[in-house]
Amino acid sequence: MRGLLSAALLLPVVLPGQVARDTTPPDRVFGVTEWQLARQKLEAEMTPDGFTVYIIADMEGLAGAVRNATEMRPEYRGGEPAHERFREELTDEVNAVIAGARAGGATQFVVNDGHGGTLFRNVLPDRLDPEALLIRGYPKPIVMSTGLNPMVDGLMIVGAHANAGSPGIIAHNFAFDSFTVNGVALNEAGIAAFIGGEMGVPFLLASGDDVLTAETAAMLGPIETVTVKTAFSGSAAAVLPPARVHRMLHDAAERAVRRARAGELKPLTFAAPYRVRLCLRRGYARDEWVRTTVGTFGGMTPDGAEGCFAMTTSSAEAVGNVLNEIEWTVLKP
Ligand SMILES: [Zn+2]
Repeated sequence: MRGLLSAALLLPVVLPGQVARDTTPPDRVFGVTEWQLARQKLEAEMTPDGFTVYIIADMEGLAGAVRNATEMRPEYRGGEPAHERFREELTDEVNAVIAGARAGGATQFVVNDGHGGTLFRNVLPDRLDPEALLIRGYPKPIVMSTGLNPMVDGLMIVGAHANAGSPGIIAHNFAFDSFTVNGVALNEAGIAAFIGGEMGVPFLLASGDDVLTAETAAMLGPIETVTVKTAFSGSAAAVLPPARVHRMLHDAAERAVRRARAGELKPLTFAAPYRVRLCLRRGYARDEWVRTTVGTFGGMTPDGAEGCFAMTTSSAEAVGNVLNEIEWTVLKP
């Protein structure tokens, strides 16, 4: 009886209409298209001269977006038709940033679709600036910093949301309730800045709500920020109309590239070796399969509360790869 009960507990519980959990280990996927290879492939697509901007495109911080359950997800994942409208807005905001960066002297534009709600297929390729190179789809190594390399001259993020636990609109941070490097809390923009910073790539611009722009400027220094809305709760804000936001993004991106070319904006650096500490979101931390799987990645060891882990490494890209393995684990149905 006892044995039967234990065996039953080990079987995945699949309710009608649900998909059984895919337990393929991440190294089976990322051993094929792993992060170093993605970087080499992107470098081969790029021109080494000129000024290259790498733009991360998220959605929660877009002009007018306030509600995760509906506006950030397609209908087939429980969202509303409004998601399609925000895909247009996302593409328009990316285009505004590209146009401004171009006016400031940028010559090459890599766009990485950084919103997981549609498995990183949100930017509309048909509507995107014809000179951009778009990274879309999933799985892709290091999620929001795929292929990032020293040929990039500056990082930008549009549509960004504030850190987990903050009072911002749809605030979160990958799969984490907290993520620190050498004791410094980083949001998603900060994590990209950490990975880019090690390669000498400075972070130039972030747009989103007032909480996101304030916390990112505090983390990264005097970068250009565009505040597109003032958060009243996790799902209400005073929002600026898209047309005004597009003008602001254009002008800020132009200023950001000019300032970067003048050497005003410096890469974010930490003293190595880096001590990284992360705590999974409570829901994930309670999921034994997720917790134990995550505990096998990158030499991490349990640290403190359940679902909290620490690792020490001298490679920010390796941290990005662990983050990617965690994302791969938690994005499973
Ligand atoms: Zn997102």
